[in-house]
Amino acid sequence: MNGAELTLERSAWAAKAAIRSYGLGVRIHCPICKTVLENAPDDFGPRPFCSARCKLVDLGNWFNESYRIPTAERPEDKDDEFGPS
Ligand SMILES: [Zn+2]
Repeated sequence: MNGAELTLERSAWAAKAAIRSYGLGVRIHCPICKTVLENAPDDFGPRPFCSARCKLVDLGNWFNESYRIPTAERPEDKDDEFGPS
């Protein structure tokens, strides 16, 4: 009975060991901090970033970019509508 469980456990361990030893994982080049992760697991959460923190930094940058456009255009729109006569 224990044999099947032991085999499953061993094959899972072997798969993880293979990823570490033979480079079966993915290579991640973080666009934020330029860190290169070799052999990261295929289901690595923060991909394509090296960590959840860099993912948040990227999200922050993205929000800043998208907020910058409307705030830059609004003053001009106001000038056209309520401009001096
Ligand atoms: Zn990073």
